[in-house]
Amino acid sequence: MKTMSHPVLKDVVLLGAGHSHVTVLRMFGMKPIPGVRLTLISREVHTPYSGMLPGLIAGHYGFDDAHIDTGPLARFAGARLYQDEVVDLDLAGRRVICRSRPPVPYDLLSLNIGSTPNTAGVPGASEHAIPVKPIDGFLRRFEALQTRVLARKGRAAVALVGAGAGGVELLLAAEHRLRHAVRHAGFDASGLSFVLVSDVPNILPSFPAAFRARFHSILAARGIAVVTGAPVTAVETGRLMLAGYGPLAADEILWTTQAAPARWLAKAGLPLDPRGFLKVDSMLRVIGQDDVFAAGDTIAFSDRELPKSGVYAVRAGPALADNIRRTLTGRSLRRFKPQREALYLVSTGERHAVGTRNGVVVEGAWVWRWKDWIDRRFMRKYNDLPEMKVAPAALPPLADREALKEISAIAMRCGGCGAKVGATVLTRALAGLIPAARADVVVGLDAPDDAALVDVGGEKLSLQTVDYFRAIVDDPYTLGKIAANHAL
Ligand SMILES: Cc1cc2nc3c(=O)[nH]c(=O)nc-3n(C[C@H](O)[C@H](O)[C@H](O)COP(=O)(O)OP(=O)(O)OC[C@H]3O[C@@H](n4cnc5c(N)ncnc54)[C@H](O)[C@@H]3O)c2cc1C
Repeated sequence: MKTMSHPVLKDVVLLGAGHSHVTVLRMFGMKPIPGVRLTLISREVHTPYSGMLPGLIAGHYGFDDAHIDTGPLARFAGARLYQDEVVDLDLAGRRVICRSRPPVPYDLLSLNIGSTPNTAGVPGASEHAIPVKPIDGFLRRFEALQTRVLARKGRAAVALVGAGAGGVELLLAAEHRLRHAVRHAGFDASGLSFVLVSDVPNILPSFPAAFRARFHSILAARGIAVVTGAPVTAVETGRLMLAGYGPLAADEILWTTQAAPARWLAKAGLPLDPRGFLKVDSMLRVIGQDDVFAAGDTIAFSDRELPKSGVYAVRAGPALADNIRRTLTGRSLRRFKPQREALYLVSTGERHAVGTRNGVVVEGAWVWRWKDWIDRRFMRKYNDLPEMKVAPAALPPLADREALKEISAIAMRCGGCGAKVGATVLTRALAGLIPAARADVVVGLDAPDDAALVDVGGEKLSLQTVDYFRAIVDDPYTLGKIAANHAL
């Protein structure tokens, strides 16, 4: 963590290191507002990039290729990074409630916390299926799945529920990886079977027919069965119960169904749509809350429904950063205008991909290389950060007049708060004092030390000191823990 050289006048707290917030951090790092402190609260320090997740599962990428390390990014932005899980908000008190640390106050809040596949409505799903999100949990559980498959000498039935682009791509990646691992271990890979299950009549329902047709052929060529129009009614050990179809044997079950919002949003008192997503206006501001913004999968956008896709979360990043900046500096906000049609490049397990935009479909190894180039370029923006020259301190262009008035007073206090009087001066000053004789003072000014020891009655003595050190981290809670550790 970096200690700010300016007094902190406004606290901007970012919840979740999603695709939009990494852009907010980068943009504030490139152009900070003096007096504004960012704090990122994220469940994990390494945030996954969804575009490269299937490639990570397939074995084409390592962990670092597919994750943004928010540590250096937060330092670049001069932001504090708190690794914790947000469980609630205190909107009236403007505080974020975390699972493991004291509440975090904010002046301006932004949520980019994504979504998770919905296992809640299907009995047995949360016990027996592996949801693709949170991704860190999924990666660990997928490794364990592979270990189990190898322990069974490659004889396993793998089912994936949810046939959107993420599900189809993930199953093809898993098939590629598991068949390779089974062969590599010297077993017969024909003992592995795969099935894609969907409740709607067709796979990839929001994509053009030609794109869908390509994936039907690819799945068939790889021996992956497809069961559509069969909602899962229950998940039991070793099988899925499907409406209108009956039981389907499955030793391993992956779950990538429709995105569901975080459940704690409902109790936080924010405005939600009927499915529980956060209602935001066209400026990405939460309806009725001037000091709360949101972007990515977690929002219900007022202008039109946006696909729950990383592409839209990425695109929202610059608009979100701009509107946070505009709010802080008292300028009118700008509308976020998401694109109508996005380019989709979906990989097929090997280094091969199919792409579509505006109804045109392309395919081949070159499409995979194109996707790889786009994804790596995106990651470089956050993992290879530019060297920034330290700009001279400028007067904060903050909107708040009271904040401006505070600057001179705070700046004066900051100049002296950590300074110490030299030992000679201190000894001379103390020499003029006549210590009062008190039975409860065990160590006092007659034998001066760094601390006084006072008998307060009972079993414990009280140790008191004014010998503090300056904050070495910009987080009072962490500094308190460090100080306590040193004292013990
Ligand atoms: C297998 C798969 C492949 C996909 N491939 C693509 C693709 O190629 N292209 C594409 O556009 N989309 C893809 N998607 C969709 C994409 O994953 C999501 O749309 C995208 O991740 C949403 O981004 P986001 O910024 O809203 O949230 P996320 O990327 O999910 O980020 C949210 C962040 O918030 C953190 N967080 C969540 N809750 C809390 C909390 N309570 N406290 C603290 N931190 C919290 C999380 O840890 C995470 O870091 C894919 C999805 C899947 C499942």
